[in-house]
Amino acid sequence: MFKKISDFILDTLFPIKCIGCEKEKEWICSTCFSKLNLQQEQTCPYCQRNITPHGETCFSCKRKNRLDGLFVAGYYHNELLQTAIHLYKYRFIQDLSFPLGKFLLKAVHFYEISLPDLIIPIPLHKYRQRWRGFNQSFLLAQFLSQNLLPHYSIPIKNVLKRIRFNKPQASLHNYLQREKNIEGIFQLEKNVSPHFIKNKKIWLIDDVVTTGSTLNEATKILKKAQAQSVWGIVLARQKTNNRS
Ligand SMILES: [Zn+2]
Ligand SMILES: [Zn+2]
Repeated sequence: MFKKISDFILDTLFPIKCIGCEKEKEWICSTCFSKLNLQQEQTCPYCQRNITPHGETCFSCKRKNRLDGLFVAGYYHNELLQTAIHLYKYRFIQDLSFPLGKFLLKAVHFYEISLPDLIIPIPLHKYRQRWRGFNQSFLLAQFLSQNLLPHYSIPIKNVLKRIRFNKPQASLHNYLQREKNIEGIFQLEKNVSPHFIKNKKIWLIDDVVTTGSTLNEATKILKKAQAQSVWGIVLARQKTNNRS
């Protein structure tokens, strides 16, 4: 009884409506979900010119400590996807992790991306996590971990730690500024031995990628610990005008 009354009050004060069509009770209804289109072609994450299978790093961009590839599920210019990501990150609507997680899952299944041994979310600094109340990348990673395979959760672990409180990357528009802002920002969590990473196929999960410098910085740490491969898996890529 009490639950019903409290649900009624919550629904009246904060009614859940589809962010696409305002249909009640769901953040993204099934009709709108089907309009979140999957990215058709994937390019090398570094040059962003060469079209490669699933976003593999192209031959001329390959370097020792770089990502092996970056798979981008959808288009940032899709208005619904962009709104959903914005509400999730900046309006703290934590429940959007489910439809957004479902979208990532749909994309990796559709393109039959080979599965990892370990899933690692890009961490937030503890101050920012406290402020937001959750780590948006962790919740997406958790959804994937639990739903990629039936009856088995692919291991997920907070392996990385942010050791500096940097400016939000979104506030910087210049590639070099972003590179500098993020340099040396991650280390392995104290309770994680490099042996845990060694020879593992890893998915690094982030919500949105822009220049890729955050994913790249995280990859350096994992490759130094001898990860077999590191792929970035993200919802969308936000284009930057200024890469100079
Ligand atoms: Zn809808
Ligand atoms: Zn390339």
